[in-house]
Amino acid sequence: MARERTVVRGIVLRSVDTKESDKILTVLTAEKGKISVVAKGARSRRSRVTAVTQLLAYAEMTLSESRGWQYLTEGSPIMLFDKVKADIELLALASYFAELTEAAAYEEAESGAVLSLLLNALYALGELKKPQVLVKAAFELKLMATIGFEPLADACAYCGRPDPVDPVLDIRGGVVCCKACGGREKFSMPLTGGSLAALRRVLYGDPKRLYSFALAEGDLARLADAAEAYVFTTLERGFKTLDFYKGLRPSASL
Ligand SMILES: [Zn+2]
Repeated sequence: MARERTVVRGIVLRSVDTKESDKILTVLTAEKGKISVVAKGARSRRSRVTAVTQLLAYAEMTLSESRGWQYLTEGSPIMLFDKVKADIELLALASYFAELTEAAAYEEAESGAVLSLLLNALYALGELKKPQVLVKAAFELKLMATIGFEPLADACAYCGRPDPVDPVLDIRGGVVCCKACGGREKFSMPLTGGSLAALRRVLYGDPKRLYSFALAEGDLARLADAAEAYVFTTLERGFKTLDFYKGLRPSASL
């Protein structure tokens, strides 16, 4: 019986060595969401698929299904993000993006928007050399919005004022509000006028220009703190790749 073959385009979010010279990959595709793929012999020197089984490889992959498993039979790289991988800090940040995406993405679900978001973030880091803190914050916020947790940021959620007084992001409620209206101390991340404007731009602006803005250092720091706290609260977990990244930048400048 002929095995069913499919061709997908996807990025490797995780690559785990298994017995002999095989790997098991977690791949994010537009059509099928997050899938597991077995790459037989991927670690052997004679393998033709080695390049596309590396972390963050974006490739066209031919898969063949057998007994419920997808096997990688051919792969042709589209983008390998070599400039990201050549820099230890960028690689660490990109590894966090991959772990975060894996936690946020669904199986068997159309995931084109999440895939584009990740590819554009890696391009912004490696090719466009955008500031790491800015890319990280915008990626985190837009990813949460894309998977269904878009914070309400157009006005104070309580009094309706378009420009909240002492604005905060309530990371538990997923709303922006005036500090005095509804800011719960434990869950309120303080924003500035500039960081609130940037938050709105990330959520409501053109996704193709997601990483094309500049922000004063203090505004960017507030946005970054709020974005990270929003991810932890929404997904109810931390990320060891993020701890590693932060360890590389103990006194990180923006
Ligand atoms: Zn208010």
